[in-house]
Amino acid sequence: MGLFSGRKTVFVDADVLVIGGGMAGCGATYESRHWGRDKKVIVVEKANIERSGAVAQGLYAINCYMGMQWDENKPEDHVRYARNDLMGLVREDLGYDIARHVDATVHMFEEWGLPIMKDPETGRYLREGKWQIMIHGESYKPIVAEAARKAATEVYNRIMVTHLLMDKTKANRVAGAVGFNVRTGDFYVFQAKAVIVAAGGASHIFKPRAVGEGMGRTWYAPWSSASAYALPILAGAKMTQMENRIVLTRFKDGYGPVGAYFLHLKTYTENAYGNNYEPTWYEHTKDLVGDYVDHLPVPTCLRNHAFLEEVKAGRGPIRMVTKEAFQDPHKETVGWENFLGMTIAQAVVWASQNIDPKEINPELTTSEPYVMGSHATCSGAWASGPEDYAPSEYQWGYNRMMTVDGLFGAGDTIGGTAHKFSSGSFAEGRIAGKAAVKYIDDLGKEAPQVSEAEYQNLEKVVFKPMENYEVGRNEIVAGTVSPSYLLPIHGLQRLEKIMDEYVGGISSHYTTNEPLLTRGLEHLQMLKEDLDHIGAEDLHQLMRAWELQHRVLASECVTHHTMFRKETRWPGYYYRGDHMKLDDKDWHCFTLSQYDKESGNWEMEKAPVYHIVD
Ligand SMILES: Cc1cc2nc3c(=O)[nH]c(=O)nc-3n(C[C@H](O)[C@H](O)[C@H](O)COP(=O)(O)OP(=O)(O)OC[C@H]3O[C@@H](n4cnc5c(N)ncnc54)[C@H](O)[C@@H]3O)c2cc1C
Repeated sequence: MGLFSGRKTVFVDADVLVIGGGMAGCGATYESRHWGRDKKVIVVEKANIERSGAVAQGLYAINCYMGMQWDENKPEDHVRYARNDLMGLVREDLGYDIARHVDATVHMFEEWGLPIMKDPETGRYLREGKWQIMIHGESYKPIVAEAARKAATEVYNRIMVTHLLMDKTKANRVAGAVGFNVRTGDFYVFQAKAVIVAAGGASHIFKPRAVGEGMGRTWYAPWSSASAYALPILAGAKMTQMENRIVLTRFKDGYGPVGAYFLHLKTYTENAYGNNYEPTWYEHTKDLVGDYVDHLPVPTCLRNHAFLEEVKAGRGPIRMVTKEAFQDPHKETVGWENFLGMTIAQAVVWASQNIDPKEINPELTTSEPYVMGSHATCSGAWASGPEDYAPSEYQWGYNRMMTVDGLFGAGDTIGGTAHKFSSGSFAEGRIAGKAAVKYIDDLGKEAPQVSEAEYQNLEKVVFKPMENYEVGRNEIVAGTVSPSYLLPIHGLQRLEKIMDEYVGGISSHYTTNEPLLTRGLEHLQMLKEDLDHIGAEDLHQLMRAWELQHRVLASECVTHHTMFRKETRWPGYYYRGDHMKLDDKDWHCFTLSQYDKESGNWEMEKAPVYHIVD
C-alpha cells in the first residue's frame, strides 16, 4: 500500500495516560505527578498543549472562583447556583467537590504567572460577577501548559487518539489507547494502567449559522470534535444528560462573549423597537416551566427562550445596548479588551461591518447547539463521586472513574457538573489525577494487558480511509466526487444537516419531536454505514475522518437521549414539540445511556437526582 508502507508503530508504556492536554488534561497531569512521583505520566494531544483546547486564544475572566479566603462564597452556594441554572438537575456531589477545590487551583495559576486583576480598593480579585474574576488572560493556556509539561514524563503532541484499548485479562477494564501522528503518520499504541479522558466538548455536530467560507466560525472551538464522548461510548461507558446541549446568546457573527458586557459594563438587551422584551414572555414561560421562571438568577436557557420567542414574534433583531456604557472611556476600553484577550474576531467583525458600539447597539444572536460538560450545560460521562460526599448509589470505587474500570475523565468529558469552566475543569482534572494514581496503587501487580490482535486490527481500521482514497481516486473523472468514497467534509455537512433538521438545530428553532428523532436516527444509521467508505487524501484529512467518526457517534447519543426525555426541561436550549412542558413528576432525574458496539444498540435508563445541599 505504497504511500504509507514506511509507517512505524510506536509503543509507549504509561501508568497514567492523559488524553487531551487542555485545561482538564493539564490539571490531571499536574496532580498525577504530585501523588505519583514514581509514575510514568504520559499526555497525548492532537494539537500542541501550548495552545490547544478551548482556552487556546486566551480568556478575559476565570468564571469559577469561590473567594473563600474572603468569605465571598461557599461551595454550597455554587451548587445551588448550578442547580438553579440547570433547572434542578446537577450532580451535587461532583459540583461540590470541584467548588471546594477550585480556589486553590486559581491561586496556583497566579503563582505560575497569570495576571489576575485586583480591586484597587479592597485588594481582592476584581469580580466581574458573583463567580467570575477578571484576568489578563491572553497567555492563560501557555502558563497552564508549562506546569503540565514539567509534570509529565512525556507529552506527545500531534497525536490524534482514535480508540481506547480494553484489557484482555479482565472485562470492562481499560488498558490504553491507539492513535496516529497527524504529521508523520506513525501509529501509536499506548499501554496504560489508568486512562484519563480530557478531550474537550463538541462543536460542528449541528449545522452552524456560519456556513460556506465562514464555517470555521463557531462559538465553541471548531477543533472540539467529541472525542471526549466517542472514546468512552465505544468502550461501553455510560453517558448522562447528553440531550442537554447548549445554545449561547452572543454577539452576532463573531460570537464575542457577552458576560463582561452584562456583568461589568452593565449593558442590557432590547428588541428592534427599543423595548425590554423579557417581561413580555413571563406568563408564557411560567406555563411551560412553572416556578422555575421565578428563580434568581433567571436560568440561562430561559433567557434564551425569551430571546427566541421575541424574534419569532417578528420583533428582532435583539440588540445589546452599548451606546450608554461606551460613553465612559474606561468601560469602552474594557469592552474592546474583552475581545482582544479571547475573541479577536468579534472586533474584526465590528470593524468590517461599520459597528462602533459607542454609536450603534450591536446585534445579538443565538448559536447553533454544542455538546459540552463544563459550561452552562452538563453533558458527559457518568462518573463515580467523592468518597466523603457522594451518595452510595453514585459511588463505585474511585472519584471521577466512569463505569469502565480504570477509565477516568474531567472537564467537558464528565457529565452532571455544569459551571466548572476553565478553573473548575483544571480542578476536576486534579481530582481525577489523584484518584487515578490511587487506583494504580491499589492494582498492585495486576496490571491490564493490551491485546496484540486488538491493536493490529485497529491499525487497519484507523488507516482505512487513506486506502479508500488511494483506490477510489482513480475513478474520479473531474472534481472531487468519487463513486467509491465520501470525503470528511461531505460527511460532516451531512451530519450537520441531519442534526439540524431532525434533532433541533437552528433551522427548526431548536424544536424536534418523536417522529423527527426517529427519522433522524435512521439517517444517522445510513451515514454510519457510509463512513466505512470515507476517503482521506492525506494525514490532515485522516484526522478529519476520525473527528467525523467521533462526532457521529456523539450525535447518535444526543439523539437517543433527546428521544428518551419526554419533556422540555430546558426551553431555549431545545424543545420537544410533542412534550412542551417541564415535567418534574416523571423527569426530575438524570438520563443515562450505554452503547453496545457489537449490536449497535443503545440502552437508556433513568438515575435519581440527589439533592444533598438544601
Ligand atoms: C468560546 C468559549 C469561551 C469560554 N470562556 C470562558 C471564560 O471566559 N472563562 C472560563 O473560565 N471558561 C471559559 N470557557 C470554558 C473553558 O474554556 C472550558 O471549560 C475548558 O477549556 C474545558 O476544559 P477541557 O480540558 O475539558 O477541554 P479543552 O480545554 O478544550 O481541552 C481539550 C483538549 O483535548 C484535545 N483533544 C481533543 N480530541 C482529542 C483526541 N482525539 N486526541 C488527542 N487530543 C484530543 C484538544 O486538542 C484539547 O487540547 C469558554 C469556553 C469556550 C468554548
